[in-house]
Amino acid sequence: MLTVDNVSVFYGRVRALDRVSISVNQGEIVSIIGPNGAGKSTLLWTVMGVNRPASGSLRWRGERLRSAPDWVAARGISMVPERRRLFDNLTVRENLLIGAYLRKWDLSMRQDMETVFRLFPILKERLDQYAGTLSGGEQQMLAIGRAMMGRPTLLLFDEPSLGLAPALASEVLRAIQRIREEGTTCLLAEQNAFKALEMADRAYVMNTGRVALQGSGKEVLANPEVRAAYLGIKAGDE
Ligand code: ATP
Repeated sequence: MLTVDNVSVFYGRVRALDRVSISVNQGEIVSIIGPNGAGKSTLLWTVMGVNRPASGSLRWRGERLRSAPDWVAARGISMVPERRRLFDNLTVRENLLIGAYLRKWDLSMRQDMETVFRLFPILKERLDQYAGTLSGGEQQMLAIGRAMMGRPTLLLFDEPSLGLAPALASEVLRAIQRIREEGTTCLLAEQNAFKALEMADRAYVMNTGRVALQGSGKEVLANPEVRAAYLGIKAGDE
């Protein structure tokens, strides 16, 4: 479905991605883990068409992905950015409607709002509240809801559990699993390595702009180096 082949991206002279190759198949949850600065966000913004690769190629259902965010969004790819980037001075309802800006207003939008409320009932209670006054967890739910309003085929999540208390982080990650069950393919960058690997069909470990390791979620979770570096578990501890 999505193929990233040997992609390198530079910020000025800094190489943020170094010949990165990943793929995402329809219906999968694919997780990318790695330390700060590993290049996870850069990779997601490159898929969205915000960063232009210096070399390599990105393909989506056989078609070459352009470095043009509107064009990418129109092809059914949406992103839930890190730190949410909501419109604080707009209400929950208005933020959700912005997520559907590529569509014409019709009844299906109301149905999509109901889908978002089934996933996050609290948003229905907060419909007329300004986004800036929501709690961090509610804001993350709204950011996910807004992306879903575009009816994406592939949803990219950048650090969806960042800054959330553990119970809320689990709720948000469970919601991602439900989004997948309802048919949307999910690619997520996460610092919460354990949960991200546990829920992933496949996973990639990134380090200094490169893919250091890949495999099924279970394989990567069982890897001794991953356990030591990301989960703080040394061999013999268990
Ligand atoms: P984090 O979890 O901290 O966001 P990350 O894995 O998502 O980390 P990136 O944000 O993609 O990593 O950063 C990759 C590298 O590119 C880092 O060295 C970072 O400092 C650099 N970088 C990111 N954005 C820019 C920018 N706009 N200009 C210059 N350098 C950047």
